[in-house]
Amino acid sequence: MNQLVPEEDQAERMAFILALRQRGIRDVAVLRALELVPRPLFVDPALRVHAYDDVALPIACGQTMSQPSLVAAMTEALAVTAAHHVLEVGTGSGYQAAVLSHVAGSVVTVDRYRTLVSEAQARFEVLGLRNITAYVGDGFQGLPARAPFDRILLTASVESVPKALVDQLKFGGILVAPVGPPDQVQSLSRFVKEQSGLARTDLSPVRFVPLIPGAAATL
Ligand code: SAH
Repeated sequence: MNQLVPEEDQAERMAFILALRQRGIRDVAVLRALELVPRPLFVDPALRVHAYDDVALPIACGQTMSQPSLVAAMTEALAVTAAHHVLEVGTGSGYQAAVLSHVAGSVVTVDRYRTLVSEAQARFEVLGLRNITAYVGDGFQGLPARAPFDRILLTASVESVPKALVDQLKFGGILVAPVGPPDQVQSLSRFVKEQSGLARTDLSPVRFVPLIPGAAATL
């Protein structure tokens, strides 16, 4: 048993992992990653009682963190290994990046809000997650200085995959994104970059906040 985690929390985490299994998450490495990341650290203290519920929760700057079963499903769809360099667009609380850091070799994550990026970075430090770097920037542009990527995950919706992100994905690489109109039902889709273009598979209906162009001027 992990000595750093109180026993009460252990029981909650076991129930949490069981619920994810019941929701169809099968990948053992992904389940282990979700078990290792304490979601309470990433949520508003006022919402602590819901930290291990399978619900989306509000975070700072008017944004939302996804429900854990969706975080798990996206991580599973990305088919990440320890050999992979991964880009996440939409750092938010940092929870999804922390989950990715346990399955990937390295993770870079970008958000348009400085506040979210610095809070997420502080959480990565507390957890000793040294293979994640968080940047302030416009995710529509990707992170050319850290490209190319084996995997790219968008945690905000787009109407179509931004060209810069396609350019920064390796051939044979996978990109997962919610695709569709803002504030309506979108499709969580998985794209494989082939010589002939992107091969798309639609996975499930979802609803994400939209990716907004430009780094925020304040916050
Ligand atoms: N993955 C996060 C939740 C992301 S919510 C988590 O695990 O908590 C979507 C995030 O996308 C928000 O934090 C929002 O600020 C960010 N975002 C929106 N437009 C963006 C852009 N153009 N570039 C980078 N981040 C953006």
